[in-house]
Amino acid sequence: MSIQIEAPPKSKIERLPPLPPQETVYKRLRKRFHLAFFLAFVAAPFLNIMRFDIPRQRFYFAGFELWISEFAIIFFAMMLLMFVIAASAIIHGRIYCSYACPQMIFSEWSQSVEAWAKRMVQQPLKAAGPQAKAWAAKGVFYAVLAVASVFLAFVFTSYFLEPRDLLGRLLHLDFVTVGGITGATVTLITFLDFTLVRQKFCTTVCPYGYIQGMLQDKHTLLVSYQDGTGEAKDCIECKKCVRVCEMGIDIRDSPFQIECVHCGDCIDACEDVLRKLGKPGLIHYAWGETPKAAVLLEPWYKRWGFRDAKRVVILLIMVFYLTGLGLVLSLRRPVLVEINPDRATLFKVLDDGRIANLIRLKLANRTGKTSQVRLWVEGLPGADLALQTNPVVLQPGESYERTVELRAPFMQDGQDVHHIRILSQADGARKADAEDMTFITPLKRN
Ligand code: SF4
Ligand code: SF4
Repeated sequence: MSIQIEAPPKSKIERLPPLPPQETVYKRLRKRFHLAFFLAFVAAPFLNIMRFDIPRQRFYFAGFELWISEFAIIFFAMMLLMFVIAASAIIHGRIYCSYACPQMIFSEWSQSVEAWAKRMVQQPLKAAGPQAKAWAAKGVFYAVLAVASVFLAFVFTSYFLEPRDLLGRLLHLDFVTVGGITGATVTLITFLDFTLVRQKFCTTVCPYGYIQGMLQDKHTLLVSYQDGTGEAKDCIECKKCVRVCEMGIDIRDSPFQIECVHCGDCIDACEDVLRKLGKPGLIHYAWGETPKAAVLLEPWYKRWGFRDAKRVVILLIMVFYLTGLGLVLSLRRPVLVEINPDRATLFKVLDDGRIANLIRLKLANRTGKTSQVRLWVEGLPGADLALQTNPVVLQPGESYERTVELRAPFMQDGQDVHHIRILSQADGARKADAEDMTFITPLKRN
């Protein structure tokens, strides 16, 4: 007699309905930022938003042409820039690297071009073998990258040399002068960088990545894998998050890996996989190790990253430097006028009997157009300055430094020191500037 054992009824596997697609696809968001920052990168030197002209020793900032001697403005601009970079690293970690850095933008772009070139050759070379297609794709890719490298090197070099001057050298294929050699060298480096190095630069050469490690703390924004343990673990080990990572890491090992540029591609990958199974993704942007659910209950300033006093102090320092910069820019004079007495000789008696004192005059036109400066004297009847022309005409960027005679008729008033004012007014200035001076004469005529 055989005993038949009934198999237990199969348990029904419950499959959750798929979730709607995630609200923010970080790859798409990043591409929009890349376009905006690429346009800003190209426009900055041409619109003088930020540029350091080495041969002319001029610093261009927000449309202002600053002379190297304008220390206060350059100091405030540099300090502000430094604190913006530091604050970004402390609060947002390596977000700059993946969303705004030209190296990342062009590395990803060159990868897209490479993939596009492979697709491009398929149709015209239908009958050809895989080897021939691979060579053709490489040819197309290198040709596009060569043209792009010339353009990118031109833009980059324009941050340090006058763009029109540089364009002239490029059109005349100048490989002899310093500017031409610099342009050619930068082009070659750009080409090699975006064909061979790409994101490897971020983990090997770039010092910013290492500085991040020093600046970040337990509240810094990072990309974090947050899953349960044991039975409660939701990860299905599909490893899609690892495959999409251009930096070649597994974010599940630790959120504090120096290679991670916080791009969010692994977040998209995990969401894409798990949402089909009816579960949200397991990788998120997080403030330190704070769980995502806890962040949603926090006040707005914490959700914006102001999570401790250090961050508030940094913000206040940035406001200080920004205010200082605004103040020194508003006080800036486009045409510099400096008037000082030259007391090597107290006075001279001229052939015609007039008395002359020597004045050191320094004028500088810090604008991009021709300007005129008119000078005159108050408090000394019949006095004038021995200038070739008055007003003095200054070309854009021109400096004028002279020792000139301030002449006046002899006065029999029993005084040898006369208090006077020299006034100056440049084109476009609403009022004249006055410099208090003394005019020294002999007490009596010889
Ligand atoms: S993509 Fe998500 S589910 Fe897949 S291995 Fe990574 S963390 Fe696990
Ligand atoms: S681990 Fe994720 S966030 Fe970090 S670099 Fe890789 S894909 Fe980007």
